[in-house]
Amino acid sequence: MNVQKVRKDFPILARKINGKPLVYLDSAATSQKPKQVIDAVENFLKTSNANVHRGIHTLTVEATEALDHAREKIADFVGVKDVGEIIFVRNATEAINLVAYSWGRLNISKGDEIVLTIAEHHSNFVPWQQLAAENGAILKIVSVDGNGEIDLEAFEKALAKKTKLVTFFHVSNILGTIAPVRRLASSVKRLAPQAKILIDGAQAVPHLPVNISKIGCDFYAFSGHKMLAPAGIGVLWGKREILEAMPPFMFGGDMISTVKIEKTQWAELPLKFEAGTPNIEGAIGLGAAVDYLQKIGMENVRKHEVGLTHYALEKLSKIEEVEVFGPKEVSKRCGVISFKIGSVPAHDVASILDSEGVEIRSGFNCAEPLADFLGTGPLARASFYVYNTKEEIRKFIEAIEKVKEVFHLSPKHEARNPKQNQNHKKINFQTVSNL
Ligand code: PMP
Repeated sequence: MNVQKVRKDFPILARKINGKPLVYLDSAATSQKPKQVIDAVENFLKTSNANVHRGIHTLTVEATEALDHAREKIADFVGVKDVGEIIFVRNATEAINLVAYSWGRLNISKGDEIVLTIAEHHSNFVPWQQLAAENGAILKIVSVDGNGEIDLEAFEKALAKKTKLVTFFHVSNILGTIAPVRRLASSVKRLAPQAKILIDGAQAVPHLPVNISKIGCDFYAFSGHKMLAPAGIGVLWGKREILEAMPPFMFGGDMISTVKIEKTQWAELPLKFEAGTPNIEGAIGLGAAVDYLQKIGMENVRKHEVGLTHYALEKLSKIEEVEVFGPKEVSKRCGVISFKIGSVPAHDVASILDSEGVEIRSGFNCAEPLADFLGTGPLARASFYVYNTKEEIRKFIEAIEKVKEVFHLSPKHEARNPKQNQNHKKINFQTVSNL
C-alpha cells in the first residue's frame, strides 16, 4: 500500500490546525473521506438526483439503480450473498436499536437473559439496558481480562437456557481488542443454541477483512462514516428468516406493498425495514468507499495498521508516564490506542495535542461502564487508518512529550494508577436484574 498516494486522495489532509499540519488520529470516531467518495456523491447529486422506488421517469430509475448497485457492492464487501439481508439504516446505533425494538421486544421477556460484555459501546449497551428495564429481562455482563480480552470462561459460564440474545463487539472502540467472533459464536451455538447473536462491527468492517457469513451470527451492525463514507448511512445485516419473522421498526412509505384502510401489507426485504426516503447519496457514497477500500485490499489496510500500531505501542512503551490499555499483542488488536499520561486529565492531553495539530479523542469515549470497571476514568485515545504515517506517529509522540513538559511530569512523581486492570481478578460476569 502506497500511503503517500492514498494521502493525496484526502483533501482535508492539506489542512493546518493551529498553524501545524493536520495529524488526524481520530478515525475511530469518524474517518476522513477520499475524493472518490466526495465525487461519487457530488456526481449523483449533479446528474441523477431523484427519489427512489417512485414512478418511472428516467432520473428515478437511475437513482434506484444507483442505490441497488451500492447495496450489491456492500453485500459483496462483507461476504453476504442475499442483498435483501442488507438493510440500510443511519448508523450502527440505529441498526442495534432496530434489533432491540423489533426482534427484542417480540422475543425477550421477563426473566430472559441478555449476555453482553462490559466493553460494549453505549450504542450496544443502552438499548439492552432499556429493554431490560422495560420488561424485566436480565443482563449478564461479561468482563474483560487484564489484557483487555473478553473473558472466555466467564462468557461460557454466562450462557444458559434462558439466554435469548448474546451480543458483543467485533473490535473494541476503547481497547482495540479484536474479539474471537467465530469462537464466541460457536460457544453460543453449543451452550445456548436457542439464543440469537448480534455483533457490533462498527470498528471492524473499516479495518479488517470481514466475511459475515462465515462468523455464525444472526445480526451484524456497522456504520459507513467510519469507513470513508459520509455520515448518516449504516447497515444492519440479519438472516433472512429472522428478518422475515420480525415486525417493521418504522411505518410509512417504501416499506409497504399495499395499504388499504383496514390493513397494510409490508414490502419484501430489505424495504420492509427502510421506511421513508432513504439516504440515497449516503448509500452511493458508501458504495464508493467500498470500491476504494477494495482497491487497496482489506488485507493491505490491516497490514498497514498493524505496522502503525506496532510502532506506536513500541514508542509509547518507552515513555514511563504513559499507560496503554488493551492487548499487548498487535495480532489481537486494531489501531485504537487508549492511554493515560500520569494523572493528566484526558481532555488536557487532547487539548495540548490539538495545539500541535494532532487530533485525538478524549473522555469516556462512549464506553463509561468499561471505564468504571477498569477504574481508569476518562481516557485519551488515538486511532489510525489508511492515511496515517509513521511520521505522524512521531509527531504524536513529540506532542506527548510536550504534555509532560507542560505538566512537569517525571516518572518518579507519577505512580501508575494502581486500580486499573485489577477488577478482572474479582469479577467474571455480573448479573443485573430488576433494573
Ligand atoms: N460500536 C462501536 C464499537 C463504535 O465504536 C461506535 C462508534 N463510536 C458505535 C458502535 C456507534 O456508531 P455510530 O455512532 O456510527 O452509530
